[in-house]
Amino acid sequence: MNRVLIAEDERRIASFVAKGLRSNGFAPTCVGDGQSALTVALSGEVDLLVLDIGLPDLDGFAVLRRLRAAGSRLPVVMLTARDGVRDTVAALEGGADDYMSKPFRFEELLARIRLRLRPDRPDGEQTVLRCGELALDLRTRRARVGDRVIDLTAREFVLAETFLRHPGQVLAREQLLSAVWGYDHDPGSNIVDVYVGYLRRKLGAGRITTLRGMGYRLEER
Ligand code: CA
Repeated sequence: MNRVLIAEDERRIASFVAKGLRSNGFAPTCVGDGQSALTVALSGEVDLLVLDIGLPDLDGFAVLRRLRAAGSRLPVVMLTARDGVRDTVAALEGGADDYMSKPFRFEELLARIRLRLRPDRPDGEQTVLRCGELALDLRTRRARVGDRVIDLTAREFVLAETFLRHPGQVLAREQLLSAVWGYDHDPGSNIVDVYVGYLRRKLGAGRITTLRGMGYRLEER
């Protein structure tokens, strides 16, 4: 199991990321300041660091600098402010492997984490998710049902991807909302239902089942 250290002092974001990672089979640990981030990152007990720039004690840049100065090659994904081009450049020059601008969708961060944990992944591996006749190509962002190519919007694609990563499992509305729409969503919104409707129309009605009061399930068939 991959162990991911989350260094973020904003509780809401840290717990959003930790929850998502846990439900995708990772073992997350959270710290809320730079000094603790550095200590745990250097302990050898984690496989990847998600590092926010704005942290008490030491900021993310200082943590990264000291980590690299100590000879650590731990993969680091930095969280930067939206449109913080200067921060992004500084992060990459400081030795970060990747970055994610806030606000972000969990699935985007997850994709970057997966990529950085497997830098030597050979081409062609696990880029197509399948469930019965349904196939999603993560590289070309194309969906197919049998031989038919289906045109999905970016949002529909991410929703379909979330279902295909958990075939046969019940996914709660709230879970889908945070996976596809991120943490800046309105919990009272019916947007999940609306988009499940769009997917049903495009992929075939019987593929996604509604479980009243529980959520949705992609049927394995
Ligand atoms: Ca912060």
